[in-house]
Amino acid sequence: MPANPIDILILGTGPAGITAALYGQRMGLQAVVLGDMPGGSVYMIETLSNFPGFLHGISGTEFGVAAFQQAREEGAHFPMARLERLNCAAGVFSGIDTNGQEHVAPSAIVATGRVPRRLAVSNAKAQGIHFCSVCDGPLFRGRNAVLAVVGSDNAAGQHALTLSRIAQKVWLVCRSRTLKMDAAHAKLIRARQNIELLLNTAVTGYKGREVIEGIIVLTEEKVEKELAVDGVFLAIGWQPNTQMLNFEVAMTAEGYLRTDTRLMTSVPGLFAAGDVRDTDLRQVLTACADGARAAQYAAEFLAKTTPR
Ligand SMILES: Cc1cc2nc3c(=O)[nH]c(=O)nc-3n(C[C@H](O)[C@H](O)[C@H](O)COP(=O)(O)OP(=O)(O)OC[C@H]3O[C@@H](n4cnc5c(N)ncnc54)[C@H](O)[C@@H]3O)c2cc1C
Repeated sequence: MPANPIDILILGTGPAGITAALYGQRMGLQAVVLGDMPGGSVYMIETLSNFPGFLHGISGTEFGVAAFQQAREEGAHFPMARLERLNCAAGVFSGIDTNGQEHVAPSAIVATGRVPRRLAVSNAKAQGIHFCSVCDGPLFRGRNAVLAVVGSDNAAGQHALTLSRIAQKVWLVCRSRTLKMDAAHAKLIRARQNIELLLNTAVTGYKGREVIEGIIVLTEEKVEKELAVDGVFLAIGWQPNTQMLNFEVAMTAEGYLRTDTRLMTSVPGLFAAGDVRDTDLRQVLTACADGARAAQYAAEFLAKTTPR
């Protein structure tokens, strides 16, 4: 059954999608927001401590639910369903959500975030596995912690450097024979006393059933070793959630959506916001900022292309 006419179809109920809905509604546009998790990835944040305005931080879940309610009170419609496929034909975006409801709109904002890649080993979801050193590194402050970073690119290097200022020791475990980060990062890593580099070494397992107590590695010499660690930070890549786009749109080699300075993708009327976008900082604050800007630019696009 086709839905009532709407102005913007927003994919994703994380900070980017919710903020886009809030701003869109306040600009007089009707938004439908698809996604099944109010707040998106923020539910994974125990305490959101780097969003200005919350002196002692706020739980990610509390933040997400409050933002969701705020957008709903402005009139945004949240069917609490996902969209498995977004189509685009003759400048119109459409799709059927997982409740069987059809949505059609002249503009769309993709704010579907990304998911971290995990190691294919047992206990892959045990407590103590992290993906963001800026976010979770401070949990280890003052604990004389020993941490492991897995990966060898710039992101892994950045995590190792950030954590080396917090932890007693950081193992940087790289499957490759060489560091795949830029020379500046590599130089800093090699100079940092408390970072120990393990090249050509694979993590083959975790120790600890519910909480990580260590990692099992297969070293360059093909010897299996156990390293006791208090936490593991994975930097083995992310998967942007763009599989639902059923048409061609420009992306980076990793699958992030390319946008112009007005957050429009290569498809007119299709905007991207937050972690799914090709951007250089992926945080709650930047996702919210993207959401606000995408709504603003979508409104300007609609004013030009579909004047009321
Ligand atoms: C463990 C962890 C800790 C973090 N800690 C912090 C922190 O302390 N501070 C900070 O600022 N940032 C932190 N971040 C980063 C922050 O959570 C993200 O940058 C932010 O949530 C991105 O918002 P987003 O709206 O772009 O995407 P998300 O929050 O990821 O939301 C995207 C939503 O879209 C949904 N979706 C996907 N596909 C579809 C589809 N087909 N249809 C509909 N919906 C779909 C997803 O399920 C998800 O709910 C952390 C991230 C992680 C993983």
